[in-house]
Amino acid sequence: MASAEVIPADNLIHVFWHEGMLKHDTGIGVHSKGIDPGFLDILEKHPENADRVRNMYSILKRGPILPFISWHQGRPALISELLSFHTQEYVNELIEADRNGEKKFSGTTFLNPGSWDAALLAAGTTLSAMKHIIDGHGKVAYALVRPPGHHAQPAQADGYCFLNNAGLAVQLALNSGCRKVVVLDIDVHYGNGAGEGFYHSDKVLTISLHMNHGSWGPSHPQGGTIDELGEGEGFGYNLNIPLPNGTGDKGYGYAMQHLVVPAIEKFEPDMMVLVAGQDSSAFDPNGRQCLTMEGYREIGRTIRGMADKYSNGRVLIVQEGGYHVTYAAYCLHATLEGVLNVSEPLLSDPLAYYPEDESFPTKVIEAIKKYQKEVVPFLKDA
Ligand SMILES: [Zn+2]
Repeated sequence: MASAEVIPADNLIHVFWHEGMLKHDTGIGVHSKGIDPGFLDILEKHPENADRVRNMYSILKRGPILPFISWHQGRPALISELLSFHTQEYVNELIEADRNGEKKFSGTTFLNPGSWDAALLAAGTTLSAMKHIIDGHGKVAYALVRPPGHHAQPAQADGYCFLNNAGLAVQLALNSGCRKVVVLDIDVHYGNGAGEGFYHSDKVLTISLHMNHGSWGPSHPQGGTIDELGEGEGFGYNLNIPLPNGTGDKGYGYAMQHLVVPAIEKFEPDMMVLVAGQDSSAFDPNGRQCLTMEGYREIGRTIRGMADKYSNGRVLIVQEGGYHVTYAAYCLHATLEGVLNVSEPLLSDPLAYYPEDESFPTKVIEAIKKYQKEVVPFLKDA
């Protein structure tokens, strides 16, 4: 970046963060299983560990994007605030688990001492970021939070998640007068928490681009398939875009232009939420989607374009997965560069080099588009 470049006040990203979220300790084991079968000398940290978020924090503090960032302190959510998305019974279960010291909520989802305080901080910090936008103090805010939230359903923990940080922020937006909110989820896994929470609503359009992983057990009954479209008034307002392994930058760009942008144009949201996971990157242990920094940058640019057109530039970005401890931080930096619409990349890619073949993903995306045009009323002439 040219050092003389002046950063306009309305092109800042307001980052909300609290270091207390580092205290959620997910332990070690074989990948995310938390078990030691005894075969290995070196056990790895659970992929959703504090290091990944430490690097995201440091790259924003020390990377070339720093001049575009305004820092804000996060805060814990109140129990009463959680009830806009979660059931009282489920919240009681979480409080009880914390009181007892620990609980395994699924094969890979562990609440340990310190986890509940971190989860409350993640939820409250995300709510503060949304409130900042709603109150007109900024247009683009980013909640750098963990534990992640997009698998947490109204009454169910799942996939390293306890509280649905983005879902709570969407409810706050609706309760504050927003009429229509888009939630775009680019984490490599299906954003089943928001999908489930807003399945009956036509006020929230949930769009999820994900690996075609299907249901993974009782904590995650949703398949993330194209025919899970919502119910009742919400029919058509849950758009699942399962993409083939290796979809890559060009495939994601194609999906954005042919599926995501037309749906947002028809929906005309007055608030946008980007649920950002970097586990869709080329080097993530949890995904095979092969995005590089430039792919994330392009998604960020597209989101910014849509926000400028429909939501008066307002976008909340919420951190989700992303487990390569180096590349997730770099891809986050690139995503935010895209949202800022900087003319030239600020940071070069230290890892990406794989060749891409977009011919298969584009065929899959065409098939999804044909299906949606036939079945989803508001997309008939999209
Ligand atoms: Zn994920």
